[in-house]
Amino acid sequence: MEEKKFYVLPQLTFNYGDLTPYISEEQLRIHHSIHHKAYVNGANIILQKLDEARKKDAELDMKSTLKALSWNIGGHLLHSLFWRNLTPPSIGGGKPGGTLGDVLEREFGSFERFKKEFTQAAVSVEGSGWAALSFCRQTGRPIIMQIEKHNTNVYPMFRILMILDVFEHAYYIDYKNKRGKFVEAFWNIVNWEEVNKRLEKILK
Ligand code: MN
Repeated sequence: MEEKKFYVLPQLTFNYGDLTPYISEEQLRIHHSIHHKAYVNGANIILQKLDEARKKDAELDMKSTLKALSWNIGGHLLHSLFWRNLTPPSIGGGKPGGTLGDVLEREFGSFERFKKEFTQAAVSVEGSGWAALSFCRQTGRPIIMQIEKHNTNVYPMFRILMILDVFEHAYYIDYKNKRGKFVEAFWNIVNWEEVNKRLEKILK
C-alpha cells in the first residue's frame, strides 16, 4: 500500500487583486488563505484522528466525526471548484458558447432565464451555502442545486462505492424498528463483486 494522502490548499490561477472591482484583494486573500485553508486543515486533522483511532482500534463517535469531516471536505472541494470557475473580468463574464451554451438554451429556453433562476437559487439558499449548476447524466439535463452549509453530510463529488438504505421503509416489515438488526443482516447480502467493479472503474 502506498502512503496515505492528505488534502492540500490549491494555488489560485490568478492573483488576489485580479478580480477587482468585483471581489477585492483583501476579500479574496482572506477567503482563500484563511477560510479555505481552515477546511483543508480541519479535514486533515480528522483524517489523522481516524488513522490513529484505527491503529489503536479505539472507539469513535462516528456521527459527530463524519459530520465534521463532511463539513471540512465539502468546504475544501467546493472552494476548489469555485476558484477554478472564476477568472479576471477581462476574460470572464458575458455568455457561454459551445456545448454549454446549447445545453442551457435547450433546458432554460434562454441564457437570461438560466441566469434568473440561478440568481434566485443563490439568493434564497437557507443560511450559509452555495448555488451550483449541476448536470444529470441520466436525463442529460442541467439542474440547479442549492447546497446548505458545505454538505449536509455528503462529500460533494465523491463516488459512492457501496450504499445501505436505513430509512425505516427499507426494513420495518422484517425488523420493525430494529435498524441494527437490519444493518447486521445487510452484511450477508452485499454484492462485493459489484462494489469492487465500481472501485476499479474509478481507479482506471
Ligand atoms: Mn467560502
